Amino acid sequence: MEFGAIETEKYNDILNKIYSDIEKSKELVICKDIRIDAAEIVSYIKKITKNYSEVLEYSESDILNAMERERKSIPSNYYNASIFPILDEKVKIFSTTSELFGSIKMNKFICPSCKQEQVNPYICESGFVDNEKECDLRKNSILKSLSTKSIKEYKKFRFTIKDTFLDKPMIDDCFLPVEFQNTIYDPYNNNIKSEGA
Ligand SMILES: [Zn+2]
Repeated sequence: MEFGAIETEKYNDILNKIYSDIEKSKELVICKDIRIDAAEIVSYIKKITKNYSEVLEYSESDILNAMERERKSIPSNYYNASIFPILDEKVKIFSTTSELFGSIKMNKFICPSCKQEQVNPYICESGFVDNEKECDLRKNSILKSLSTKSIKEYKKFRFTIKDTFLDKPMIDDCFLPVEFQNTIYDPYNNNIKSEGA
């Protein structure tokens, strides 16, 4: 993608604004043990915008502009690998929303806890009982699950939609759709390298 002088200027302007927001955010952080390193965050932003630009084919300034527009928290809580991971083989890129829905037609998602197929992509509704104990990720115990193990750890099928990325600049995640269970996107099986689905 062409990255001309105007684009570079636009990009640097946004980056400078973020840099000053990072400096300001240091005063807002109550827990002084949390180290906020502006140079480190800016370096990560440069890394992901370059990577996202190559993969999604938008300019780096358009990508950063979109991300910054949607930012609702301090930069250090936003520009990091859990929100914006590097787009590698572990993140599935769908071209369009219809491609996404066309790929998960069976509407079945594997609960990472009880391994049952069920219809909810985010919480387990399988009702699976093991040792007289219903699956941990069942709906009414979601808060309990959160307190013991971050729900984030369970929602691992990471994906994004190229077409709508500038409107919704986010890397989504959910339980693994059954269509992808034998692919590299399967977060529960590191041995499988072939791309099915
Ligand atoms: Zn379950």
